[in-house]
Amino acid sequence: MAQSVDSRGPQTREEDARFPSVDPRTGEVIDYHPMDDEAAVRSAVAAAREAAAWWGGLGFAQRRRRLLSWCSALTQRIDELAGLITMETGKPRDDARLECVLVVAHLDWAARNAERVLRRRRVRSGLLMLQEASTVEYQPYGVIGVIGPWNYPAHTPMGSISYALAAGNAVVFKPSELTPGVGRALAESLAAVVPEYPLLHVVTGFAETGAALCRAGVDKLAFTGSAGTAKKVMAACAQTLTPVVLECGGTDAMLVDSDANLAAAADAAVWGAMANAGQTCVGVERVYVVDEVAQEFTERVVAQTRRLRAGGEPSADLGPITRPSQVEVIRDHLADALARGGTALLGGVESVRPPYVEPVVLADVPETSRAVIEETFGPTLTVHRVANLDDAVARVNAGRYGLGAAVFSAHRGAEIARKLRCGMVAINSVISYAAVPSLPFGGVGDSGFGRVHGAEGLREFARAKAVTRRRFPPAVRVLTFARPAWAMRLLLRIVRVRYGR
Ligand code: NAD
Repeated sequence: MAQSVDSRGPQTREEDARFPSVDPRTGEVIDYHPMDDEAAVRSAVAAAREAAAWWGGLGFAQRRRRLLSWCSALTQRIDELAGLITMETGKPRDDARLECVLVVAHLDWAARNAERVLRRRRVRSGLLMLQEASTVEYQPYGVIGVIGPWNYPAHTPMGSISYALAAGNAVVFKPSELTPGVGRALAESLAAVVPEYPLLHVVTGFAETGAALCRAGVDKLAFTGSAGTAKKVMAACAQTLTPVVLECGGTDAMLVDSDANLAAAADAAVWGAMANAGQTCVGVERVYVVDEVAQEFTERVVAQTRRLRAGGEPSADLGPITRPSQVEVIRDHLADALARGGTALLGGVESVRPPYVEPVVLADVPETSRAVIEETFGPTLTVHRVANLDDAVARVNAGRYGLGAAVFSAHRGAEIARKLRCGMVAINSVISYAAVPSLPFGGVGDSGFGRVHGAEGLREFARAKAVTRRRFPPAVRVLTFARPAWAMRLLLRIVRVRYGR
């Protein structure tokens, strides 16, 4: 029977160190989860290490077969997983289904492409080392720690988990305290199709559990969450020189040129900003639109946004703000933007009705306001007029974050994409790169570093191993104390001819 709780804070039941997961739409408890401490995390890492030895030794073909079975099982249970995502995040059912579609598309790609990307391959040895046969291969690290957020509780961690497993690692996953059930469901579904060893361990809890995972001796840690937490994770991992990949937030922009298809641009801006109630790391938070078309573009955006409704019912366009404390951040950003001279074109501070926020569109918001420079993570959009796209690029590149961006332009899309300081750009669409498994995903600056997805994402979870094998004795022996004096003279002569011209 569901119980009500007041907020989504760390309400542990002291007697059994468990915490509830809660439906943000109703405040009802969905389930209780263990508050895993240091010892529990260390024991999960130890068990994962045994699984990693078995899994790493299986080879690409065997791993591919098993991961594709998992992919098929997840695909058959999309509605079940989506239902759980909806319960824990409040997002509309179809948004949750869309998330699951991304999960299986990436898992399938990682499973099918791991061998091609990571297997041993010959590389040229070069003139000076002609006698050597050189190869590079990518070997698994062993155990990867994954710490995830709540906004895409399946897709986001699976962007690391799928690729880490395909590269031959085992994983210990710490889901967000708001979505532990989704994390457990993912692990249970893998265990059902790969019963031999528990490849994916889930540890649940709050910040302390995540911090314990950073200290637990994993071979690499993949973190997705806010830039503030990323700094703590990196500092903790620095103590043991544990490598990290950090996927953090953003204040992503859309740029709209005078020759853009305005209907398509407005549609993309509204969806990019408002889908998942704006709780998307690569969601559109601001639009820079060229003066000549700004009025028409803005009118279209406002007209489309006006039709959207926030609520907990299946027909709602937007769900609740999943993390209660984020509601205050959204309210502050709106109040700050309006106090600094911003104009509300739709909604305003009154749109904040916890746990929901109705969509808000603002104009004339100064570049120094919090809504522009910080991540709002709500269904809000600021629209800025610019003289031209170069002005827009300068403003976008001035920010601390650099995750994704979108450009709508008939002629300058590729040129502008190249100039933007960020990890991904969609030209004449929005967020589409996240659904292309062969593309790397990640940011620059406060948006983090390292890449998940694609070949780069597979290599992120593997160590490059370089090997040389002597094929025949060298004509000029220089790597020895028995080197004759003429050998160095000859070597330098060759080098001067080869490199000194
Ligand atoms: P968060 O930083 O609050 O928490 C992320 C995870 O870190 C949670 O599991 C949390 O329990 C854990 N954690 C907290 N303190 C910790 C510590 N000291 N040591 C170790 N782990 C700790 O972020 P959130 O609110 O869960 O997620 C929202 C953020 O994630 C937004 O900034 C969003 O943009 C970002 N995000 C980024 C991507 C991406 O791919 N770049 C994807 C989704 C979300």
